[in-house]
Amino acid sequence: MARFAMVIDTVKCVGCMDCVVACKTENKVPEGFNRDWITTDAKGKFPTVQMEIRSERCNHCDNPPCVYCCPTKASHVHDLGGVVLVHHHMCIGCKACLASCPYDARFIHPDGYADKCTFCIHRVEKGLDPACVAVCPTHCMYFGDLDDVESQVSKLLLERKNHALIPEAGTRPEIYYLI
Ligand code: SF4
Ligand code: SF4
Ligand code: SF4
Repeated sequence: MARFAMVIDTVKCVGCMDCVVACKTENKVPEGFNRDWITTDAKGKFPTVQMEIRSERCNHCDNPPCVYCCPTKASHVHDLGGVVLVHHHMCIGCKACLASCPYDARFIHPDGYADKCTFCIHRVEKGLDPACVAVCPTHCMYFGDLDDVESQVSKLLLERKNHALIPEAGTRPEIYYLI
């Protein structure tokens, strides 16, 4: 078994958007849509305000409402690493999954199916990192298996303070931000 996760160091991220461009190129994401994006959040109070820059995408949740609500089972959890994917040919474009996602991570592809980050499973199956991780000039993104205590992602989460997004939604997101 494996449980894939992404760990992103917000201290090292400079918001250059290379991850966004790499994803668009790698996955032929159509004009006007994105599978990943940059968010900036001001944290704290003056004079100790800190800017957190985050590269965001589908969180490949452990408890994914987008999978549970899909009437055709097009949205599913992949055998490898618990990655949440969509069978394009089974999707009827009903948008139930878009409505259920607290992270606004999905969109309807112009070809009619729900689309989003796949954790670049086509690369991961070949032993490569996701395109966004591979291209990051500050090496602030890490991809790996949380079921392996020796993996870099497991070690980073033990060593560094971190948070996930909207934990109160109960989706158990698998993207962690180091702070
Ligand atoms: Fe589903 Fe949204 Fe979680 Fe991705 S982030 S697995 S689309 S609920
Ligand atoms: Fe399932 Fe597609 Fe409807 Fe999403 S849009 S819930 S993937 S059928
Ligand atoms: Fe895009 Fe792949 Fe990164 Fe997901 S893992 S945001 S699909 S490049």
